[in-house]
Amino acid sequence: MSTALPTYADVDAAAHRLQGHAHRTPVLRSSTIDALLGAQLFFKCENFQRMGAFKFRGAFNALSRLTADERRRGVLAFSSGNHAQAVALSARILGMPSVIVMPQDAPAAKLAATRGYGAEVITYDRFTEDRMALSARIAGERGMTLIPPYDHAHVLAGQGTAAKELIEDTGPLDALFVCLGGGGLLSGCALATRALSPDCRIYGVEPEAGNDGQQSLAAGHIVRIDTPRTIADGAQTQFLGDITFGIIRRDVTGIVTASDAQLVESMRFYAERMKMVVEPTGCLSLAGARHGGIDLRGQRVGVIVSGGNVDMARLAQLLAAG
Ligand SMILES: *Cc1c(COP(=O)(O)O)cnc(C)c1O
Repeated sequence: MSTALPTYADVDAAAHRLQGHAHRTPVLRSSTIDALLGAQLFFKCENFQRMGAFKFRGAFNALSRLTADERRRGVLAFSSGNHAQAVALSARILGMPSVIVMPQDAPAAKLAATRGYGAEVITYDRFTEDRMALSARIAGERGMTLIPPYDHAHVLAGQGTAAKELIEDTGPLDALFVCLGGGGLLSGCALATRALSPDCRIYGVEPEAGNDGQQSLAAGHIVRIDTPRTIADGAQTQFLGDITFGIIRRDVTGIVTASDAQLVESMRFYAERMKMVVEPTGCLSLAGARHGGIDLRGQRVGVIVSGGNVDMARLAQLLAAG
């Protein structure tokens, strides 16, 4: 891999493209958690971002970089989660056609939401069809551009604007905790943090059941695992990307893990104390700050709350059981 990694200049350029399109989400505090940890925590609330997660930032940035010809032919993504909705909404705003390839048995609410954002949804059978091959075929036939969920310079540069805004609002931080799946959010936030608060320690937090990122850092190369069983459905990735890993191994201090029970504890904290809905994957960062074994006493700590898309029945079920 000799391609140059994206830099802070790409994050800064993304911030300009997002202006007037993405929300500048609030940074919230909680005296309860500050007292509990003996630290000052700053929550960057991407659960309040458009379509309910930071993924709008990366998708909109990537789509806005396409040429006039590429825009006319449109974009394609395969995902059943937040990336699909982010691509669909961004395409609608930018006036492009979009196709989202989703499993036939995806929750009806998700299929409806994606169609609601104006995308054409093409379904496939998870057990007999290969979504990569199907997506490549449709993209080829229609001349559409495939937008990957994390391993893409413009996608991760867009995600990094979350940390850029956070540090602009709070000033320098001592530590930052970021939810980790394929590493688009973590690598983009690392670029912003290294530029704006160079001494800040940066931690990725991934599910205990799927610690491929932690294993990859230890091994010095990308480690692939089976799809982990965890309630953090946005972090069920099996491996980091080449670009995201390149940045993470250079700029990130460490990766810690959180158990499902710790995610539920954080979810309850957000609901009870901060009156907000955070999806299980979005709870990783706080769970890592609380339980990752890192001494934060007396420090200024950023926590990226990555998203809030969880249906209420599921939220109630998790809180009742936890
Ligand atoms: C996608 C997603 C993540 C993980 O982001 P990566 O860029 O894949 O590491 C975390 N939280 C939420 C809510 C997500 O949708």
